[in-house]
Amino acid sequence: MELALIIIFVLSALAYVAWPLLSKTVAAKGSGAEDELRIQRDIVFAAIKDLEMDREMGRVSEEDFEQLNAGYRQQAIDVLKKIDRAGNGMHRKRLEDELAALRTKRRKGEVIFCSACGSSVGPQDRFCSACGKKLSQPQ
Ligand SMILES: [Zn+2]
Repeated sequence: MELALIIIFVLSALAYVAWPLLSKTVAAKGSGAEDELRIQRDIVFAAIKDLEMDREMGRVSEEDFEQLNAGYRQQAIDVLKKIDRAGNGMHRKRLEDELAALRTKRRKGEVIFCSACGSSVGPQDRFCSACGKKLSQPQ
C-alpha cells in the first residue's frame, strides 16, 4: 500500500518536472522555433560579451576565461547551426511553393522564360526584368 503511494508520488513528481520540458519541445517545433533560437543566440552572445568585460576588469582569471569562453562559443556555434537549419527548411519550403506556382503558370501559358538568361517573364512583358533583353513576343 505504501509502495503504491510512493510510486504515485514519484510519477507525479516526474510528470511535474517533465511537462514544461515536453511542452517546450512541442512549442519549439512550431513557428516560434526560430525566434526561440534567436533568443538563445542573443543570450549566448550577451554572456560572451559579459565574460570579455569581466576579463578586462580583471574579475575572471585567464584560465577561467579560456574555459568559459570556449564553452560559450561552442554554444553559439550550435545555436547558429540550428538557426541555419531552421531557416533552410523554411526557404526550401518557400522555394518549392514558388516552383510549383511557376509550373502551374507555365502549364497555363501564363509565364514564359527569357531566351537569354532563363528568368521567368510574364506573357505581356516586352523586356526581361532580370537581364533587360528585349523579348520576342510569342505567337
Ligand atoms: Zn533575361
